[in-house]
Parts: sequence; structure tokens; C-alpha cells
Amino acid sequence: MTEAIQGNWLDAIPAAVFLIQDRRVVFANRAAADLIGCPQGELAGVAVDDLLDDAAALDTEHSHAHLKGRAGSLPVALTTSAIEHESQPAQLVTALQRDPSELYHDAIEGSLDSFYLVKVQRDADGVVVGVVVVDASERGVQQAQLTRDRLIGLSITDLYPNLPPSALIEGFAQAFNTRQPYNSELFLADRVVKDGWYHVQLIPLEDDHIAVFLRDISERKESESMVQRLASEVEQQARLLDEVLSATPDAFILFDRAGHYLYTNRKGLELSGLTAAQVTGKTWRELGFPEETGLIFEQRLAHVFASGESITYEEQFPTLTGLRDFLTTLTPIHDKDGNVIFMLNTIHDITERKQAELEQQKLAAELEQQMRVFDEVLSTTPDTFLMFDRENRFVYASPSALRNTDLKPKLVVGKTWRELGFPQENGEQADEKVRQVFATGETVLFEESFPTVQGLRQFESIFSPLHDKDGQVVAVVITNRDITERKQIEEALRESEKLLSSIYQTALAGIAVVDVEGNYVQVNHTYAAIYGYTPAEMIGKNFTMILPPDQYKRGRISHTRVLAGETSDYVGEWRVVRRDGQEVEVVSYNNLLIRENGERFRVAVVLDVTAQKQAQGALEASEKRLTSILNSMEDGVWSVQVEKRQLLYANSAVETITGYSTADFNAAPNLLLDIVHPDDQQRFIDQVNQALAHERIDTEYRILRRDGETRWVHNRFWLASEQRIDGIMSDVTDRRHVAQQTMQLAIERERVRILSNFVRDASHEFRTPLSVINTRLYLLEKVSDPRRQAEYIEGIKEQAERILKLVESLITMSRLDSLTRLHFERIDINRVLSAITVNAEAAAARSGIAFTRDLSHETLYMQGDLNELTTAFNAIFDNALSYTARDGQIDLRTYRLNDREIAVDVRDTGVGISGAELTHIFERFYRVDTARSVRGFGLGLPIARKIVEMHHGRIEVESKLGVGSVFRLVFPADKLPRDLRNPPSVP
Ligand code: ADP
Repeated sequence: MTEAIQGNWLDAIPAAVFLIQDRRVVFANRAAADLIGCPQGELAGVAVDDLLDDAAALDTEHSHAHLKGRAGSLPVALTTSAIEHESQPAQLVTALQRDPSELYHDAIEGSLDSFYLVKVQRDADGVVVGVVVVDASERGVQQAQLTRDRLIGLSITDLYPNLPPSALIEGFAQAFNTRQPYNSELFLADRVVKDGWYHVQLIPLEDDHIAVFLRDISERKESESMVQRLASEVEQQARLLDEVLSATPDAFILFDRAGHYLYTNRKGLELSGLTAAQVTGKTWRELGFPEETGLIFEQRLAHVFASGESITYEEQFPTLTGLRDFLTTLTPIHDKDGNVIFMLNTIHDITERKQAELEQQKLAAELEQQMRVFDEVLSTTPDTFLMFDRENRFVYASPSALRNTDLKPKLVVGKTWRELGFPQENGEQADEKVRQVFATGETVLFEESFPTVQGLRQFESIFSPLHDKDGQVVAVVITNRDITERKQIEEALRESEKLLSSIYQTALAGIAVVDVEGNYVQVNHTYAAIYGYTPAEMIGKNFTMILPPDQYKRGRISHTRVLAGETSDYVGEWRVVRRDGQEVEVVSYNNLLIRENGERFRVAVVLDVTAQKQAQGALEASEKRLTSILNSMEDGVWSVQVEKRQLLYANSAVETITGYSTADFNAAPNLLLDIVHPDDQQRFIDQVNQALAHERIDTEYRILRRDGETRWVHNRFWLASEQRIDGIMSDVTDRRHVAQQTMQLAIERERVRILSNFVRDASHEFRTPLSVINTRLYLLEKVSDPRRQAEYIEGIKEQAERILKLVESLITMSRLDSLTRLHFERIDINRVLSAITVNAEAAAARSGIAFTRDLSHETLYMQGDLNELTTAFNAIFDNALSYTARDGQIDLRTYRLNDREIAVDVRDTGVGISGAELTHIFERFYRVDTARSVRGFGLGLPIARKIVEMHHGRIEVESKLGVGSVFRLVFPADKLPRDLRNPPSVP
């Protein structure tokens, strides 16, 4: 296409052709230039708006438009087709010039209106008097319902015979006279057009011609009138609604989304105190309502609009008649698409209801209160209360009445027995009695027994009428009383009376009633039998009949005193004489009996205690026997009340063993502990505590007798009853001596063995230096060179010193061997080591060995012998120094190993000891490498170990060849001294 355009072959085409791109002319052919009347070259680049009157014509395929020609507007028919020019969308437009008459034709025929061309007729004065049809469009002809021939030349007035001519002509005249288009809407009927509303447009033309356009507007008119009718109907309905809404006591307010008051009924206006005109179209803000309520309302409004759900709430606000309560409902009003468009606010005055409710609540609360008091009162009695109405329904049930059921007092009200599921017969019986009381107005009382959770129980039921103020029975109250206990007591009383009389007759005790004179009024069988009589033989006789003569006086005095009410003589032991002359012992319990008439009697209850007395005697005898056995024992038997620190019993052997008498023990409650040797005391206290914890103790300890002698006792004791310890002790001093001697002998034997071994080993040690000395002495004698002599003497001295050292070690060793006990004192190991290490540190410094100390911050107390400990530690330090090379290191550390032990670590970076050697290094005279350890004798470690062990401690060694060794000395930590002023509660 582009080449074609460039070839200008389009210029040969008679029709005007434009190529348009981006609403601008890209190319126009010669015909186009001719049509517009400008040089062809000037057209390129011209905008379509400058080319066409109506550029929109290019949007359709075929259109009519006007080209803007040099000589004026040219009507053209356009054909537009979309093409692609240089890969861009473009339009190819062909324009064909149109004939004006064709134009006119197109215009009127294309119009939707009916068209008529008319000519006005004028009189001599130029006044329009008639209108004649000159031409008509096809639609116009049809509209007139005439043939074209008949229509042309017809006068308008003929066309509408029913209309007055003036009315018809008036519009034409006006258009003609004013030279302005005339518009009117009118209803036309008959003939020319079909009946209906028409829009008529009269446009004045040249030469008395007028163009008439007629448009059927019946439909529009119809809908308009419909709208009008509807509007009036709506208005009618709105008025009706308003009337209805205004007649209700509730307020109705309609809001739009923005919260404008659209409608408010009379009540609503009344509440606001404003007129409809004042509120309509306003928001609460514009009406000046308070902010706080307004904002809440706005939120609610937003909620209703958003959710489409109504809300109801109660509110209170001031009105002209004071503060009132309202129930407000916000209801969304939807359009037909379901959108919320309005919101209806219904405000219902509930002040009265609220007050009534409040009143009711108050009453209910009062009633509830009363009921509670009632319930409370009733629940304090074991009795149960039920109340029934005429229909046998529960009116009230006390809490206790329902105790054995799972029913609640409130829930039974209004129900019958049957409805509550009680057994048929029980309910029926009760109902029957209720009916009876309602009928007779009289109380019914009866007893019955029925099973309960506590077994069969007896009840007393009282059905009594409850009258109203007019004396009518309104309810029946049933009181149920559990009388099981009462019945039981009654029964028991009857029983006991029976029992009493039978006791009286058959009792083991003798019972007699004696009058003031001392005469028997009543005597039971037992009483008589005690004295060998029958009751009949005694009644009427004086009580002195049973007394031996020497008791007469005492008997009379006692008798008088009892009658005088002196209680001192109520109980007494009496020697009496039986009928057969045998004397027996009795205990007499006397009581004063005063009859209603004031008569006084003495009631005597008498027990024959002869047998008892005899038994008691036997018991005493056996007790005496027991005591004498205990006292004849060699073992000490003791019994102690621990808490009260009281010796309950100690036999005479305890006295013999301890040297202290029972009186001493009683005077000093703690004596049994105090006599324990101080060294054994703590152990004894611990054992007493163990005994209190139900352990049987078998122990031996030393006591210090009263005469100062120390004795060993064996004591075996146990908890006999709560806080009471019983024990048996014996003196085992002699036995202990024998045992000790045996032990001593064994030890001695061992010592001898060790010593002989020692002597053997030691002599070997002496041999080496002595032989060296011998050789040197020999050489000394031989040489005369003073320098050599001095050398030999020096060598001899050295060996002598070595012997001296060996002797010292041996002495230490043997001393330790023969020692049984060290002199312990409480020492702080940190302080001891601080002193000892001074020498070691100096030696280390001389040998170029670093020495560090890390002593625990805590003071570490132990029981120790300062001298011996010094020896032991020096041995360890000596070794560390000896077996550690220059530039090595020795670290001393003390610390608490656990709550019972403390430890001292001596660590070195020396040669170390192999695992095999470790087992031997504590043996006497043992040296790992004799060649290397010429300095020592293999006695340092044995001595150190001996000392540590004598301190009840131990030495541990960890070592690695070539790395170093740690010697750990562990000692028992010293506890704080026991405060003996506050010993535990032990006798
Ligand atoms: P000596 O007087 O020969 O040192 P000891 O009884 O003190 O005798 O020691 C016995 C042996 O244990 C020593 O000969 C030595 O071989 C070894 N020994 C002791 N302490 C150390 C140590 N700190 N490092 C290496 N070896 C040691």
C-alpha cells in the first residue's frame, strides 16, 4: 500500500481519498485537494478536526459529514476502512461530494419525526391566516393517513376539523412573525395522526415556508402522568404512615447513612422538643445534641449500616417529663438489592415497665430474704416442714425436708408428690391426710416409721391447717419430726428402770435404805447376804446390828454426818460382823436421799472387799518379792523418764556400780549422764537418742564413780514406753582389763616383729656410709698431701652427716612406733602450713623451682600434733624438691574435701612415679631408683604416712612418669566443740 501511495496512482481516482493516521492526514490524492481547494502538498499533516466538521464521522464505516473546504462547508458521504500503514493502524477515507437536494431528502427521511413543509397564507396586512402543506416526508404521509397526492396542498385547518383554526394557526403565526422556532406539546386526536401527545416544532424558512417536525411523545407523556399519579399516591401513603406512626406512643426516626434525620414521627419530635422542619435533613451534631451520646449513637448507626443487623438497647435520657427509660431498636432498611439505605430508630418508653420491674425485683428480693430467714430458722431445727395447697402441690419445703433427696426446695414448689417421683403409696397417704385437713380444718397427728439412709427411723407427723385472715384453710403444713432418739430414750428408760430394779435385787452390791433412826427400811438380797441374813430378817432392825462393838460410835457418827449432807463420810471402809460371827471388810458408799415430804434417808451401797483385800495383800507380797530379787541382782536395773529427766527406778546394784545412791539420782536428774566419762559422753547421748527412736542399745562406756574411779560398764537399754527407757547395766571393768591386756600383748608382739625387720633394714643402710668412711680413713692415713687429706675429711664428714640423718629418721620412726597417742590440739592447717613452707620456699628458690600456695579462704580446723605434722609435711616437701628439676614447679593447695574432711595437695612437675612403684613407695627403706635417690633412705614417706594415720587421716598419690606427682594428705575436719552447757535432754 505504501509503495502504491508513493506511486501516486491514487491521484488518478476521481473520488477524494485521505490516508489518516493518529487523527492526522498522512496522504491526500489530487481529487481530495481539488475538493478542498488547496495544493495537494499542504494537506499532509492536517488534523482531522481541521478537515471535518465532525471528526466522529470517521468512527463509523459509512457516514455523512462536511469537509471544511476553502470555499465553505462541503457535504460529503464518507466511507472509512481500517488498514495498516507502515505497521501502524491507519484509516483510509473516501469522500464523495453530495447533492444538496439529496441532502435535504436524506435529512427529512432519516429523521424519526414526521416532517411537513408548509407555506403560510397571509391577508393584505400580512397577518397569517392559513397554512398549506407543500411537502411531507414518507413518515409524515403515513402519519397523516392520506395519500401523498391528497396531502399536498391541503390546508392545516382541514386536517384538524375538530380544533379551532386560530389555535392551529397561532403557533405558525408566532414562528413566522418572530422568525424563531416554535415548540409546543399538544394532544392531537382524529384524522391526521393517531390520537396522542405530540411534540411540534415549527421552524420558519425563506419565502413564507415553515418546516414542521412532529414527534409522538405519547409514551413519555403516559409515563409522566403515571409518575405523577404514583407521586400523589406515595404522598398519600406517606401522610397516612405519618399519621399512623404519629398515633403510636413509640418514637420513629428514619436516618440515612450519613445520620441525617429523614423522618421523625410526632412522638419523636415530642422527645426532641423540635419541629419536623427543624430536624429533617439535620444530623445530631447540627441539632446540637450532647457529644457523648451522639458519638455512641454514631457508632451504633455505623454498626447497623455495616452489619445489616438490627440492635436493641436500653437507654435513659432526659425528656420534658423528666429522666425516662427507653428501649431503642435500630433496624436497617434495605433496598431491593439488599443494600442498607436507611435506618429506622424505634424508641419505646419503658419507664413504667422498668419501675414495675424494679418494684417486682425489690419485692422478690424481700421475699427471698424472708424465705432465707425462714429457711435458716427452719434448718436449725431437726424437724422438717412441708406446705401443700388444695391441689396437693408443694407450696414450701424446708431445706431439711429434702436433705435425704437430691431435690432443691425451689424446684419442688408447684409440684405434687407424684410429679416428683415419690413412691405411689407414700404420696397417696400424705395427699389423703392433706385433703382431710383441708376438709375438717383440724390438725392430724400420727407416728410412723420408714426407712431412711440412716436406717429405719421413727417420725412424728403433724398435719396442721394454715388459715388466711378470713379463717379459710389455704394450706396444710406438715411438720415431720424424727423421734427415733426420743423413742429410743423412752425405751432405754423403761429398760433401765427394769435393769435398776433387777440390779437392786440381784446386784453384786448390797443396797440398803436406812432411816434417820438408823433402822433398815429396805434391804436387797445381796446386802442381807453379805451379813448372812435374809432381807426380811434385817428390815426394821438398826444398822448397828452388823457392827462390832468397837465400831458402834464411828458408825453412828458417820450415819449422822451422811444425813447432814456431809460428803466426807460418803465412802468408807468398814469392818463388820456376819451373823456367823465372822468378820468381813466392806466398802460402803453412802448417799443422802430426801423424799418429797422432807424425810431423810441414808442409802448405803456396800461391797464385800474381803476377797479383794486378800488379793491386794498377795500382790504386795509379790511386789516385795520382785523388789528383793531386783535388789539381789548384780546387774543394775534402771528406768528413766527421759523428758522429765527423772529416775523412775534403780535397783541397789546401780548404787553399787556407780557409787551413787537412789537419793543422789533423785536429787540430780542428769546424774546417769553426768557420770559418763567425758570422752564417751557424746556417744552415750547419741545412743540414748537412738533408743528413743526404738533402737535397742548394747554399749560399753566408762563411768566416773563417786569415789573418782573410772569403771567400764556394759549398758543395755531400750524404749519401754513413750519417753521411758529401761536398762540393765553391769560393771565390765575387769573383763575389759583382760581384753585390753590381750590386745596390748598382740600389739607388743607386732612391734617386736616390726622392730626386728627394722633393725635388719637399718643395719643395711648403715653399712654403706660406714664402709665409705672406712675407706676414706684408710686413704687418709696413706696420703700426706694436705689437699687430698682435706678432700677425704670432707667425704667422711658427708657420710657422717648422712648417718646422723639416718639415725634421726630411725629415731623418729621408732618413736612413732612406740607412741600410742599424739598430743592433739585444735589447729588451723592453713596457719601451720604458712609457717612450715617458709623453708621449703627458700629451698625451692635456691633450686630454681617455682613454689605457689593456694590456701583455702575458709579456716580449716583439725585436731593435730604440730610437731609431728611438721615432720610429715617436711618429708613430702623434701621429696617434691628432690625429684623436681630446675624450672619445675611445686603447688601447695588446701581445701575442704567434704563436710567431714580437709585436704592438702602437694603437686610437683617432677620425675613422677610409675604405677608399679606407687604400691611400694610407702614401704620402709624403699627407693625407686637407688642410684638417683642417694639422698634419701626410703623413710620419708613411711614416716609421713605413719603420722598422717595417727591423725586418722590418709595419703593418696597420683603420679605420672615424666609429668609429675600429687601427694594428697587428707585429715578429718574438726567439728566445733560441743557446747556442754546445753546437753540434749538425756538423763
Ligand atoms: P627418700 O627419702 O628416698 O625420698 P621416701 O620414702 O621419701 O624416700 O620416698 C620413697 C621413694 O618414692 C623415693 O625414693 C622416690 O623414688 C619416690 N618419691 C617420693 N616422692 C616423690 C616425688 N615427689 N616425685 C617422684 N618420686 C618420689
